[in-house]
Amino acid sequence: MALKAKAKVDHIDINTSWCKGCGICIGMCPTQVLEFDERFKARVAHLEKCINCKLCELLCPELAVSVEEAENE
Ligand code: SF4
Ligand code: SF4
Repeated sequence: MALKAKAKVDHIDINTSWCKGCGICIGMCPTQVLEFDERFKARVAHLEKCINCKLCELLCPELAVSVEEAENE
């Protein structure tokens, strides 16, 4: 059985109006893609490291994170 390769992530939307700065997404991201900005909202710092696990999207209690995959070529 062949494993399906995960789609590449095009961008990650973080709704900073909804973000409460809990840090869950930052702490749980396995590859340190996210960080706090100067207002203690989450922001994308290293998109190139994202492995598309979607933990950030699944774990954000405010539903502020959306991982957007690139269109298939
Ligand atoms: S998990 Fe959600 S609310 Fe918490 S810091 Fe990340 S984006 Fe903000
Ligand atoms: S999808 Fe996974 S690797 Fe990418 S930013 Fe979210 S938690 Fe980190």
